[in-house]
Amino acid sequence: MNIPKTPTVPFRFPSTTPITHRKVAVIGAGAAGLVAARELRSEGHSVVVFEREKQIGGTWIYNPNTESDPLGVEPTRNIIHSSLYASLRTNLSREVMGFREYPFVAVDKGDRDPRRFPGHREVLEYLNDFMGEFELGGLVRFGTEVKHVGLMEGGKWKVRSRKRSDGGEDDDEVYDAVVVVNGHYTEPRIAEIPGIDMWPGKQIHSHNYRVPDPFRDQIVVLIGSSSSAVDISVEIAGVAKEVHISSRTAMDEAFGKLHRYNNIHLHSVIESVQQDGTVVFRDESAVCGDMIVHCTGYKYHFPFLKTNDIVTVDDNRVGPLYKHIFPPVLAPLLSFVGLPWKVAPFPLVEFQSKWIAGSLSGRISLPTPEEMMKDVEAFYASLEASGIPKRYTHKMGNYQFEYNDWLAAECGCPPSEEWRKEMYHATSKNKKARPETYRDEWEDQHLVEQAQKDFQKFLS
Ligand code: FAD
Repeated sequence: MNIPKTPTVPFRFPSTTPITHRKVAVIGAGAAGLVAARELRSEGHSVVVFEREKQIGGTWIYNPNTESDPLGVEPTRNIIHSSLYASLRTNLSREVMGFREYPFVAVDKGDRDPRRFPGHREVLEYLNDFMGEFELGGLVRFGTEVKHVGLMEGGKWKVRSRKRSDGGEDDDEVYDAVVVVNGHYTEPRIAEIPGIDMWPGKQIHSHNYRVPDPFRDQIVVLIGSSSSAVDISVEIAGVAKEVHISSRTAMDEAFGKLHRYNNIHLHSVIESVQQDGTVVFRDESAVCGDMIVHCTGYKYHFPFLKTNDIVTVDDNRVGPLYKHIFPPVLAPLLSFVGLPWKVAPFPLVEFQSKWIAGSLSGRISLPTPEEMMKDVEAFYASLEASGIPKRYTHKMGNYQFEYNDWLAAECGCPPSEEWRKEMYHATSKNKKARPETYRDEWEDQHLVEQAQKDFQKFLS
């Protein structure tokens, strides 16, 4: 399957309009919200970051508790933001993963994790270091949830927020611009399975997976083949009786027991499930299962955002968005950071944030809304022509670096480093070849050395 290229409108010379400083609300203080705040402030904007948790970090705040509905579909459930499991180690090397201007290098302190693919706590520590280094803490309103963002007459934005601690008083404020950075790994997507309403076993989404203990001696069916699905299936197999993976992407010849394990079996997609517990796969194999784990991804969700339907989420396409960021008719006053997936998110959101900050000040000029809309339509047409489903609109994979470099050119900053591109691909290849050991065995040490040399200019 060919990944379509984002078509490009002609290059425009920088605007000659005077620099404008705006009052900007950033919603979310995860990795992307923090870097957005840094870029907006350094462009001279006045920034307030709303964060409903008591600390920064979003995804990287591990919470051992799970939601009241393990599938994560019940609207009244207690919502837990992070989807981390206890054993999670990064699936990107720290060199590739870190921000470009603040490398994720090992810190020589007793309690820090120096591994190249560290555990999740180390990422949270790094984000806290980032916040400290750029003195971003003072911009964040902690424990403050945004309840409503609405377009006002005249193009400004009403932002209604509520402090979680003080008895639910709403606070309304007006902002010139809003940057949405609320993350997209909290609202589970569930596979549709014929017969599932009558199936007697337990179901859970990976969002609510923390540790393998509840799967002890069980026959588990796990749907999906992402990085998390691989980690979780291997971890569960250590305690379960059998693990049966249902994969949409595996080749027919791979079906059957995996040779490296005595209790993991690979199957095609699920055809149906039955009242007696049987799970029937499309390859005609079947198993009587106790539990189904849905490692089936997440949905974009912006419950607070009211744009008079200018921006919608349709089959997981957030649109229309120019370059996955600006709704053409609202640009640059509404923007989204961090929507692309199957990417190295930190450097990508750093480029996106620079572009947004410069567009808001008028230092970088955007095409007209009509030109942006044409570009979006051409992009959607190219997806369709390549047979890529709508729900993969923001899936980037191989073309992320081309995208980053396009943003870099618009912002007038250096493109992605060659070593970072090569290292991203080397890790993908290594992960395929050694799914359980790629974090500890690699063949791209020469790239690590290039990265470390490159980092020297940021480490004084
Ligand atoms: P988040 O980190 O989700 O932050 C969003 C923030 O918005 C949260 O703090 C949340 O509390 C806040 N928020 C949401 N709604 C509101 C509201 N209404 N009002 C106020 N605040 C609000 N990336 C990597 O680079 N390497 C990895 O190895 C890696 N592994 C991952 C493993 C898993 C299981 C998952 C789920 C993701 C992984 N990622 C990884 C991707 C990861 O999500 C990104 O690295 C990054 O954390 C995304 O940052 P974000 O700021 O976009 O979103």
